[in-house]
Amino acid sequence: MTANGHPRTDYLILADYVLSSYGWLQPGYVTVSGDKISAVSGGVPDEEQYAQAGEVIRARGMALMPGLLNGHTHFSQTFMRGLAGGRPLLSWLKELIWPLQSALTVDDLHLAALLGLVENMRCGVTYVVNHHKVTSSRAHTETVLSAIASSGMRATLARAWSDRGANAENPDAIAAELKEGFEQYANTHPFIRYASGPLTPWRCSAKMLQKTHQLARDFDSVTHIHVSETQDEVKMTLQETGMRPVAWLDHLGVLDEHIQVVHAVWTDVQELDLLAQRKSTVVHCPVSNAVMGSGIAPISEMLARRIPLYLGTDGPASNDTQDLFETAKATIMLARARMCDASIMSPASILDLALNGNRLAVGTPADLILVNLDHTRAAPVHDIDSALMLSTHGSDIDSVMVAGRFLLRNGQVTVLDEQALLEACRHALINLRRRAGL
Ligand SMILES: [Zn+2]
Repeated sequence: MTANGHPRTDYLILADYVLSSYGWLQPGYVTVSGDKISAVSGGVPDEEQYAQAGEVIRARGMALMPGLLNGHTHFSQTFMRGLAGGRPLLSWLKELIWPLQSALTVDDLHLAALLGLVENMRCGVTYVVNHHKVTSSRAHTETVLSAIASSGMRATLARAWSDRGANAENPDAIAAELKEGFEQYANTHPFIRYASGPLTPWRCSAKMLQKTHQLARDFDSVTHIHVSETQDEVKMTLQETGMRPVAWLDHLGVLDEHIQVVHAVWTDVQELDLLAQRKSTVVHCPVSNAVMGSGIAPISEMLARRIPLYLGTDGPASNDTQDLFETAKATIMLARARMCDASIMSPASILDLALNGNRLAVGTPADLILVNLDHTRAAPVHDIDSALMLSTHGSDIDSVMVAGRFLLRNGQVTVLDEQALLEACRHALINLRRRAGL
C-alpha cells in the first residue's frame, strides 16, 4: 500500500504460464496498473508485491498472454450462421447473404454486432477487424460503432462499399462518408479505428479504388479488401483487365503497406512476390476458405517471403464460428496437408501470428487473456505452444481484459447481460427471415 492506503497496482495475476518478451515464464506473474501492464516476471511475487496489489488473482492451470487479433470478420453474419452449405461463393452471396443483409434493420444490426463482439471476446480476441457490409443507412454504421464502444473491445470498422454491380453506391457519397469516418476515428479514438473496405476489385471502379486508398493513406489508415478468394474471381478480373487481381491492384498503385488483402487464396508466384515487395498485409482465413470450397491459400509461401500476415475467421455465415483458436489449428493442418510436410508451421510460429507478435511487457496496454489448460483436452501439458494451438478451443477462455478492464471474468461476460442478448437475437432472427422471404 502507499502512504495514503491505496494499492500501487490494481491487479496481481499469477499463472502457470506467462508469455513475456523473453518467452514463456513457468510460472510467472503480471501486475496491472490503470490501463497498462506495470510488471512481468517469472517465479512468484514477494510479500511487498502482494501487499501493494488491489486484488490478487491466482490462475492455476492457466496461460496468461496477450489477447488475440481477429483480422477479418463480418458481425452482420452472426445472424446468418449455418447458411454456407452447398453453394459456391457467388451464388451463396446472391441467393442468401445479400437478401438477408438488405433486410437487417438498425436494431437487428446492433444485436448482431454485440453477438459478434461477445463471441470474439469469448474466444480470446481483444482486437477485431469488422468488414462492415450493411451500410444501407448511416444509422446502420453508427449502431455498429456504438456496439463496439459498449463492448470495451478494440476494433477496426472497415466500411464496406462498391460502386459497380448490384446495390452500387454513389461514388461521391462513398467518398464523403469515408472522409467523415476517418476524421472522426482515425488515430483519435482509443479503441476504435476506421478503414475503407472496398468489397472486391471486381465490384469497385479503378478510380474509386485509387481515390479511397489515397484517403486511407492520408489518415494513416488502411484499405481492407477481399481479393482472389475464388478462381472465378481471378478469371473475371483477368478477362476485364488482362491482369490477375493482385497485379491489377499494383497497377492501380494501391498495393502498398496501407492495404489488407483478405484471402489471397489464388495468387501466383509473381503476385506473392509483389505482396512481399510492397509489404502488403494478407489476412488468412483458412476455415472459411475450406467451408466454402474456395481452396487453400499458399501461406507457407507467404511466410517464406515474410509477407505480413493476420489470421482471420471471416464471417459466421462462411465459417461458422469466430473461434480464432480453430482458425489457428486449421492454418497448421491445412498448410501441412497441402505441402505433405509435418515440419512446417510450428505451433509457436502460428501463435505468434494469432497474437500479431504481441507479448506481455511493461508499459504496454493491459490487453490480456487467461486460457484454461486444466481439462482433459489439454492436460498434461508437454509443450505450451502445442497445447494452445492444437488442443485449445475458444471455450477454454476464462478471462479477457482490455486496457485494464475485465470484459470477461471467470467465464462471465461483465459488460452486458449475455442471456438477454441471446434471447433478443433469437427473437430478431424470426422477423428477419420473414422479411427476407426465407
Ligand atoms: Zn469476408
